[in-house]
Amino acid sequence: MTTSLLWFRRDLRLGDHPALQAAAGEGQVVPLFVLDPRLARPGPRWERLLASLAALREETDGALVIREGDPAEVVAQVAAEAGAERVHVSTETTPYGRRRDAAVEQRLAADDVALVGTGSPYVVTPGRIRNSAGAPYSVFTPFLRAWREHGWRAPAGEPRVEWRRKLDSEPLPSHPDREAGERAALHRWEDFCAEGLAGYASARDRPDLDRTSRISTALKYGEIHPRTLLADLDTRSTDATGADVERFVAELAWREFYADVLWHDPGSAWRDLRGGLRGLQYDEDPALLAAWKSGTTGYPFVDAGMRQLLAEGWMHNRVRMVVASFLVKDLHMWWPVGARHFLDHLLDGDIASNSHGWQWVTGTGTDAAPYFRVFNPVVQGLRFDPEGDYVRRWVPELRHLPGAAAHEPWLHPDGSANGYPGRIVDHAEERHEALARMTELKDST
Ligand code: FAD
Repeated sequence: MTTSLLWFRRDLRLGDHPALQAAAGEGQVVPLFVLDPRLARPGPRWERLLASLAALREETDGALVIREGDPAEVVAQVAAEAGAERVHVSTETTPYGRRRDAAVEQRLAADDVALVGTGSPYVVTPGRIRNSAGAPYSVFTPFLRAWREHGWRAPAGEPRVEWRRKLDSEPLPSHPDREAGERAALHRWEDFCAEGLAGYASARDRPDLDRTSRISTALKYGEIHPRTLLADLDTRSTDATGADVERFVAELAWREFYADVLWHDPGSAWRDLRGGLRGLQYDEDPALLAAWKSGTTGYPFVDAGMRQLLAEGWMHNRVRMVVASFLVKDLHMWWPVGARHFLDHLLDGDIASNSHGWQWVTGTGTDAAPYFRVFNPVVQGLRFDPEGDYVRRWVPELRHLPGAAAHEPWLHPDGSANGYPGRIVDHAEERHEALARMTELKDST
């Protein structure tokens, strides 16, 4: 009987998995995950991956083979042990994933084994959607239109798989228990549809209400596929309005858009996508950077977000924008410095959404908010956390301040009574400084 390998990467699920379906259609399947030392960074994100693998091992009835090492060598080795002639994968589209897969493909070819890509972590595989001139989109709204028109395949369902056992697996490194895996992702989705979808369009911007899906981490690991979500939204009856559903679909499309942009320009992971601000003067100040990272800038909305990131490995989207703007425009630091910190701590850390989210804020990315748009961290807080609840949740030193007062402790005589720090910079002055630097750059070019 034919045996194929299914090499799992960002697709840690069994349902709606076209590559698994392709492998299962050929006979027995050996499920494999490679712990790649190049991606192993100790910390919450690594632990989250291990928890997801533990769930996947259970879902494959213990058949999942886990090996550590250079993927090219490990995949070739396991294919040889299994006598497999085909290794199935979901096509990878990130810069590192593409380089790695090219190396694996070459190594497998030496043994006459084929690497077969089916599907990808996206509804529409990056690189497919182009405008009438055959060029990629660089603005979201026309991309969204074309993406919808392109359409997508129906969900694949869960195939009947005959797992092949008896291949040696290394033990999964120990890790703390975390919510992870396909079943947990489906539960999270159910909960969101029941409690968060109705009203999403207006509530999604309010970190105090916490009404977004928080499905980003499950999407990052492929514990659930966005196509599954879209198909479900098509048929499910909920109290949500058309506007709520449209808005949610558009947010998923941002994820697709950024993956597409990165696919066309892999270098934009760590450098400006658009060159207009090249040459801008940036600062390096370890003390200010440390205050930003630890959530002790003296700006409550910024500090709440940075502390949420450290505590939960997640931050609300509105607050991600505000803290990013603060680093780039109030502290005048280069966006990759912040993007690196985010990737080190976000459980949903994703190279495309992260780098291009940062570039959107900075003014170097697609659709970029112009550089001169500088978020005011106090006004943003008052607008999107009007009662101060989000700030008090994450900044205990401000819990004694009622309502919106938590956003401006400097206006209250006992604002720093519990040790909350003073502001490390003056926002109005730094905004002025940021704009002056841009004018200087323009004058010099
Ligand atoms: P929901 O509001 O429930 O949205 C549903 C899904 O849509 C999300 O899970 C996500 O997959 C997608 N989505 C929503 N907003 C965006 C967006 N602006 N860009 C791309 N996709 C989006 N998202 C990541 O998944 N990984 C990252 O590393 C990441 N870094 C970011 C960095 C910055 C500076 C900014 C401004 C945004 C970043 N985002 C990132 C996008 C967004 O903040 C998160 O996807 C969102 O907060 C996740 O929460 P949720 O699942 O509850 O979102």
